[in-house]
Amino acid sequence: KKAKDTRERLLFYAAGMNKRLAQAVRRETRLRTALENRQFVLHYQPKIDLRDGRITGLEALIRWNEPGGGLVGPSEFVPLVEDLGLIHDVGAWVMSQAVTDFQCWRAQGLNPPRIAVNVSALQLEREDFVDAMAARLGQDEAARACLDLEITESVLMRDIQAYVPKIAALREMGLQVYIDDFGTGYSSLAYIARLPLTALKIDKAFVASIDNSSEDTTIVSTIIQLAHSLGLKVVAEGVETVGQAKLLRLLRCDEAQGYLISRPVPMMEIEALLAHPPKGVI
Ligand code: C2E
Ligand code: MG
Ligand code: MG
Ligand code: MG
Repeated sequence: KKAKDTRERLLFYAAGMNKRLAQAVRRETRLRTALENRQFVLHYQPKIDLRDGRITGLEALIRWNEPGGGLVGPSEFVPLVEDLGLIHDVGAWVMSQAVTDFQCWRAQGLNPPRIAVNVSALQLEREDFVDAMAARLGQDEAARACLDLEITESVLMRDIQAYVPKIAALREMGLQVYIDDFGTGYSSLAYIARLPLTALKIDKAFVASIDNSSEDTTIVSTIIQLAHSLGLKVVAEGVETVGQAKLLRLLRCDEAQGYLISRPVPMMEIEALLAHPPKGVI
């Protein structure tokens, strides 16, 4: 009896595993098709200057327009794209699409701000990342004029020595470099000081509680002061309330991004966004 129970349980587990495996394989096939058939789209979220509300930049955020599946957010497929080794191709697509969109807005007579694209650790780790960027930007005046990079803090902390020359070379080419999700990676500011960065983006987890946790207010305030003393700008991400925006302004945070100002919007809505920047935020 016991042996039979065990066997049935094993068969049950095996069936579950097969199902998960089958699902993963299907998703892999669909993602490869997505890349070939250009099923990805970029949405853009503005950053504003907290002093005057002016739009200072647009962050490109990838979505997967899965046929029959609606819009899938990056947290649901970027990790898989990385596992499959497709992130280099997807990353290259993101950069060229962002430049194409920028040129399109220009051709429409809009005066678009710079675009920031998110770069995965795996892209930056590649030996030839900087050379590939140089090759791409060298031929492309438009790209040089508009592209910035956002790199997650936890990535940089893995091997900071290796990244100092890479980031220096990217800055040399005229790119702005942002540290994303700052505050989540336990890095010391002594390390941050060694990187030739443009700005820190304070992670939305801290921003979410600045107006109700005095500890988080202190942390944010300290990050802002230290960043400024290192000559870095500070951007707050995930700003959702007027209270948060006002407090951030009081703490001398330079820029803000979040649903209060605007959700990430599709290409189609950028013209309206640039023509009528969000008001009444600060
Ligand atoms: P991130 O770069 O830190 O982007 C901020 C995320 O917070 C975005 O989620 C954005 O939609 C969301 N967000 C913005 N304002 C608010 C707010 O007020 N409240 C809340 N709760 N959330 C807000 P999204 O678009 O789902 O992107 C998630 C992450 O996926 C990004 O985090 C970034 O790390 C990654 N990602 C997005 N696009 C790309 C890409 O093209 N390449 C790579 N490698 N990663 C990407
Ligand atoms: Mg980002
Ligand atoms: Mg971020
Ligand atoms: Mg974040």
